[in-house]
Amino acid sequence: MATVRVLGGPGTGKSSLLIETAATRIAAGLDPESVLLLTGSGRVAAATRGALTARLLGETPSDLPVVREPLVRSLHSYAFAVLRKAAERAGDPPPRLVTGAEQEGVIRELLDGDIADGARSWPRELRPALSAAGFVTELRDLLARCAERGVDPAHLQRLGRSSGRPQWVAAGRFASQYEQVMLLRASVGTAAPQATVPALGAAELVGAALEALAVDTELLAAERARVRLLLVDDAQHLDPQAAELVRVLAAGADLTMLAGDPNQAVFGFRGAEPELLRAGAGRTIRLTRSHRCAPAIARAIAGMAAGLPGAGWPTLDCRADDDGDTGSVTVRVAESAHAEAAMVADALRRAHLVDRLPWSELAVIVRSASAAAALARSLAVAGVPVTVPAAGGPISDQPAARALLTVLEATAAGLDGGRAEAVLTGPIGRVDPVSLRQLRRALRRRDADLTDALTGTAPPLPATLAKPVNRVRAVLSAAIRSHRRHRDPRYTLWQVWERSGLQRRWVRAAERGGVDGALAERNLGAVTALFDIAEDYVARTTGATLTGLLDHIAALQLPPVAEAGPAGAAVAVLSPHAALDRDWEMVVIAGLQDGLWPNTTPRGGVLGTQQLLDVLDGLGDEVSARAPLLAEERRLLIAAMGRARRRLLITAVDSDSGDAVSLPSPFVAELAAHAGGDTADPPCPQPAPPVLSPSAVVGRLRAAVCAPDGTVSEAERACAASQLARLAAAGVPGADPAHWHGLADISTEEPLWSGAQHIVDLSPSTLQTLSDCPLRWLAERHGGTGARALNSTLGSVLHALVADSAKTGDQLIAELENVWAALPFDSPWYAANELERHRSMLSAFVAWHSAGRHELTEIGTEVALDGVVAEAADGLPAVRVRGRIDRLERDAQGRLVVVDIKTAKTPVSKDDAHRHAQLGLYQLAVSAGLLADGDHPGGGRLVYVGKPSATGATEREQTALGPEDIPGWQRAVQAAAAATAGPQFVARVNDGCQHCPLRPSCPAHTQESS
Ligand code: SF4
Repeated sequence: MATVRVLGGPGTGKSSLLIETAATRIAAGLDPESVLLLTGSGRVAAATRGALTARLLGETPSDLPVVREPLVRSLHSYAFAVLRKAAERAGDPPPRLVTGAEQEGVIRELLDGDIADGARSWPRELRPALSAAGFVTELRDLLARCAERGVDPAHLQRLGRSSGRPQWVAAGRFASQYEQVMLLRASVGTAAPQATVPALGAAELVGAALEALAVDTELLAAERARVRLLLVDDAQHLDPQAAELVRVLAAGADLTMLAGDPNQAVFGFRGAEPELLRAGAGRTIRLTRSHRCAPAIARAIAGMAAGLPGAGWPTLDCRADDDGDTGSVTVRVAESAHAEAAMVADALRRAHLVDRLPWSELAVIVRSASAAAALARSLAVAGVPVTVPAAGGPISDQPAARALLTVLEATAAGLDGGRAEAVLTGPIGRVDPVSLRQLRRALRRRDADLTDALTGTAPPLPATLAKPVNRVRAVLSAAIRSHRRHRDPRYTLWQVWERSGLQRRWVRAAERGGVDGALAERNLGAVTALFDIAEDYVARTTGATLTGLLDHIAALQLPPVAEAGPAGAAVAVLSPHAALDRDWEMVVIAGLQDGLWPNTTPRGGVLGTQQLLDVLDGLGDEVSARAPLLAEERRLLIAAMGRARRRLLITAVDSDSGDAVSLPSPFVAELAAHAGGDTADPPCPQPAPPVLSPSAVVGRLRAAVCAPDGTVSEAERACAASQLARLAAAGVPGADPAHWHGLADISTEEPLWSGAQHIVDLSPSTLQTLSDCPLRWLAERHGGTGARALNSTLGSVLHALVADSAKTGDQLIAELENVWAALPFDSPWYAANELERHRSMLSAFVAWHSAGRHELTEIGTEVALDGVVAEAADGLPAVRVRGRIDRLERDAQGRLVVVDIKTAKTPVSKDDAHRHAQLGLYQLAVSAGLLADGDHPGGGRLVYVGKPSATGATEREQTALGPEDIPGWQRAVQAAAAATAGPQFVARVNDGCQHCPLRPSCPAHTQESS
């Protein structure tokens, strides 16, 4: 029963020593089955198993006995094996593991039930959080920590009462409900044998194994008799229950060796602590020479470790290798996030291109997942192939999975307008907004809609529009056929995937690499995860249905997507925890920012999970919460540094410009000193370096070639041009001037339409845009509108309200307040401001309306118009008007007065109102007899409810058109309509330019500014 502790920093050979010990003992005659080497994760177990097997085969290739039990296992795998043996002995079915996603699905369902019952079991202040996705994750985390610490639901409730924390009492009650539900789920569906035992999460495995060994003493004795040599790697990651399992086994072993590095204990948030490595009975071996990290890196690690609280942990010997290579540690500070990304990209590209390091030997470690994703995107753009960080979040939010799920929803619940549009505009249909509009228009002309097109009940469409429709129809038909034949949901999903053709497209894109390739890889990863979920659901559910699968998926978070990209061909961008157990020739630790690393924000969220662990550890509230977090963050940095073999680059941003101030972490100055700097000050912030990448080189050469006269010498320009020619000949994208923006030939100079038969359709508002600026009309008609979704929604709400003039002001305001909560405002303060503004607009409208009743009588609101207002003549086209008049009134002389309600804050001038094209077109429509109520125009009025006046709202008037005015207005409208033919569209500067989405690239304004 001897115990040996092996302590050592990164790469000091702890794992090798354990392997060597096992191999030596087996070679000396120890039965291999009596050796058990436990590791912290399955990945390390696989690597260690390979190393031990190679070692054994090299030593004693022929006389190794056949073993039935693996020599190397992860701790969880061993606990699972114990449970399986216990079940076998008791004649029970084997134990069953549930995934984290499945657990969160059950928690979500139970919380939804609590919310429906009024959530009375939860503290009042927590109730609003119950529906949040983050709360589910937090609650699962709390339950997992309890399971790891052996805290049952009743114990958790007691702790809550004694500590005055009602959230733990509620969580304890919830945990007991959760346990019952998991047992019930297990007992339902006995056709699936694996569903007849309680399902366990990973956190519950070790506790359940300990319980099994405590109950079945024969099993315990057999395990103790079998395991004579117990080896434990990474013992600093063991939580208290895992440590207890090791103690239970060690009690029977001849020799127990515990290896670890307390300076790399980084799972404190999971309750892990290096308890077993603390001095106790037995010997302690200290390994001080790192065989992985070069001396410069070892020195920096030792320097950082010296700042840890407590003493007596091993440090590193920093002597140079025999070959004299000391490695390097570089600390660089950038003056912006962009400059930091450029620094990292340049360093990685130089390491690959100049120093010939394979991409797979380079890694970037970033503290936060969002920063990792952003940096990965920047690196990909700079030409560094990266493995994309695992995707997270609801699977239904992943565009690739969303596309397939929409088809399944349409199959199970029927196709509606929303689903039809989603599937047509998604990756399967690939219809862009302009084509979608054309498609809708074509269908409207045939009295059909998108749903009719996809169900085959619409009349035939032109070939270009029919192509995507047919593609989506084929996918939908395949899914419906499979569903009607009662195939299992996996088969239906497969039918959708296969008929979509997405696999071919995404695999090809992934092989090509680049940004599109990375996106395709992520899509493929999401689809693989979707199939895994479907497989899992069908395997575990008796009578699985398509609707059941969709409900199941709706409750799940996406499990981590496997790392994308061909192995060995990309730089890993990952978190420090994900980097544990791996090492690379060069490691970049990026984003070492103040507040982010160290992150000393108290963990545990609203449920106080960290405080629970503190209470279980006997720590009171008076103990500093910051000090242990600071130490853990330092250990995490040490662990990250220990992943580098020869080179370590550390980067941070020091910037006080812009909205956010970014300061380097205090660790940066410390690292700079350990890296060989003379002072403890961080290096000066540097601008973005020129990245050694094709796009950057091409950009610099193009800048020289196209520089204005006199800014570069002609020799320099000629040299840049010849280098560009070389790059273009080598096929480097962007080097060939034929591909440069603005240099391509004009594709056609034909007008968009021609011929006397052509009738131009205009709405009164588009006529106004066309008269103001034909170029803006062209852009807006083809999708070039600004992001004004909210403003146009607000305008529609107000127009809809004022259309019902029978309502009083109070009724209108009450209705406005009713719909307000459903509007998509970004911030409450803006919503409150806008509500106030709209209230006063409604009041202004009501005042204007009642003030004008003595001269006007309402005929109708939202009055439809449709008809020809001018026939083709003198080379000008015929014009048909289509639209709605906000209000149609009759004046004292019986004439029709057109009223247009405006929500803009600035009225047009009185002169402009007389020339107002929209009002003029309305009056033309009246005089052309397009309205049933008369054909005698009585003028038009623009009512600016956003600009209150003595009469309620500011009014601008256009005088009534007399017969003599009609031909002039017709010609003006026809001339404006003729401009829609092109092929040239005039940019006409006008009062609306400041709100025009084209303004940044408008030729009229570019010429002004140049
Ligand atoms: S900025 Fe003015 S001139 Fe230019 S396109 Fe827009 S409206 Fe026309």
